[in-house]
Amino acid sequence: MESELESMRQYFKSGNTKDASWRLSQLKGLLLFIKENEAEIFKALKEDLGKPPVEAFRDEVGTLIKSINFALKGLKNWMSSQKIKLPKIAVSSYAELVPQPLGLVLIISTWNFPFGLSLEPLIGAIAAGNTMVLKPSELAPACSSLLANVMPTYLDTQAIKVIQGGPSVGEQLLQQKWDKIFFTGSARVGRIVMSAAVKHLTPVVLELGGKCPAVVDSLSSSWDQQVAANRIVVSKFGNCTGQACIAIDYILVEKKFASTLVELMKDSIKNMFGDNPRDSNTMGRIVNKHHFLRLKNLLSDLAVKKSVVHGGSMDENNLFIEPTILLDPPLQAEIMTDEIFGPLLPIITLEKVEDSIDFINSKPKALAIYAFTKNEPFRRRMVAETSSGSLVFNDAVIQYLVDALPFGGIGESGIGKYHGKFSFDTFTHHKAVARRSFLVDFWFRFPPWNVHKLML
Ligand code: NAD
Repeated sequence: MESELESMRQYFKSGNTKDASWRLSQLKGLLLFIKENEAEIFKALKEDLGKPPVEAFRDEVGTLIKSINFALKGLKNWMSSQKIKLPKIAVSSYAELVPQPLGLVLIISTWNFPFGLSLEPLIGAIAAGNTMVLKPSELAPACSSLLANVMPTYLDTQAIKVIQGGPSVGEQLLQQKWDKIFFTGSARVGRIVMSAAVKHLTPVVLELGGKCPAVVDSLSSSWDQQVAANRIVVSKFGNCTGQACIAIDYILVEKKFASTLVELMKDSIKNMFGDNPRDSNTMGRIVNKHHFLRLKNLLSDLAVKKSVVHGGSMDENNLFIEPTILLDPPLQAEIMTDEIFGPLLPIITLEKVEDSIDFINSKPKALAIYAFTKNEPFRRRMVAETSSGSLVFNDAVIQYLVDALPFGGIGESGIGKYHGKFSFDTFTHHKAVARRSFLVDFWFRFPPWNVHKLML
């Protein structure tokens, strides 16, 4: 590994990856890989996660094509130096910010969106002109194998390598010296990454998870109620069956509106996944037995089980868990303290929708907060009084698709941001460059200061 990484460092020094033409050619190679292998990508996602092809296109293939095209279009502009306006006192001086690649970077990704979460940061690392190693997750082996065995035939393998493996390979990689580490996964491994980075003072981006709440106001129009229920259901149960870092983890709703919301969500579930979701071809599967048992265990507590108002059936052989709604499970139960990352949706009732602000603020900072409301003063309070990676009103998960918005967490949900130009910036050093003419200087710059003089 060491000698391979050393040759990648030497390759970076050769300057090849810094040229705009190299960056453009690699982004185009990535695009071609995705387009020419669409069927294989769908097949791998089906194999690893039971992802239906339309969901696979919407969340991974289509999203990546959009992101690569965005980078291709913006690259020349992103790469150009930015002239800096100086104060008048800096007479006859010039300053600029010069974007430069960092060097050799490491990307460790996870399994729930195995292509999206590997390639979205890779787009940024390529656009910024780095050399890079990608380690995808061992828990989505068909997808990782496609990334490791097919994708490189479209790319410059002296600069871009894919290394497959689990935690031990991850640990070996973390021992090496990198110019940046970009990690997507759990807070537990995020801590391991950060500790390892300390040794070389390597900057890190940590894209972690946590519990993302959705506040639902007592909406009065039946249209708004139905739209909210549909959007909640599709973004909770339709995004890899809730195995998404920005999936709604739990709902906060006023007591008086809770039963209406439950009924509406039951209808939405039926409309999207049929009478028997197990037989529908529109629902993915839990990634493996370990996660299936983890989720099953969340329902094992008697008080939690009693709170199930919809669903709850499971099929271990098929790694299937029915979309499940729980009403007021105990707040100290694991389902309300740990990230769920699956198709279980607790609803917590409150007296007033405004109480949700204190509730949210009593928990670690979330990657995302959602609020379905038309109440403008409440909206303003949510913006001003809560802290999270993102805040979305009247929908969920869509912020992931917006290139113009940064994606990332705060506090325990992560460090750093990416997507669109933010990905380029994440893998770039914006060097401060200043230049002065030899003409003018000010007397007060040079001691002794008791003599008023003007130096020319
Ligand atoms: P994980 O942390 O177990 O694994 C992520 C990656 O780290 C994998 O590639 C794995 O092989 C590697 N890894 C595991 N142990 C390692 C070690 N000791 N040293 C080095 N590398 C190691 O991820 P998970 O728990 O399977 O993923 C789910 C978590 O990821 C959830 O918390 C979810 O919210 C979060 N997530 C966050 C985002 C985001 O964009 N913020 C996206 C998806 C998932």
